[in-house]
Amino acid sequence: MTTVAQATAAVAGNPTTPERVFILTAMDRCDHCGARAYHMVTMAETYSKLMFCHHHGQLHREKLEPLSVEWLDESAAINPPKAFYN
Ligand SMILES: [Zn+2]
Repeated sequence: MTTVAQATAAVAGNPTTPERVFILTAMDRCDHCGARAYHMVTMAETYSKLMFCHHHGQLHREKLEPLSVEWLDESAAINPPKAFYN
């Protein structure tokens, strides 16, 4: 399993590479509505994970982001540029 830190390091290690590593898959579902998750939030204090679809990620971001230690936003996977497929 690839962690967020490993994926970030892989991309950061080669800034000329257009490829981006996405961690969330179709198995990851929104805790609010059950749609595919594109946001994974790690909460401060408990380090529990919350998953959100792009809609609910945007809806809850303003309130939850100050309470989180990490906000993984993979909404770029929704309509990735063609370079991601090369
Ligand atoms: Zn949702």
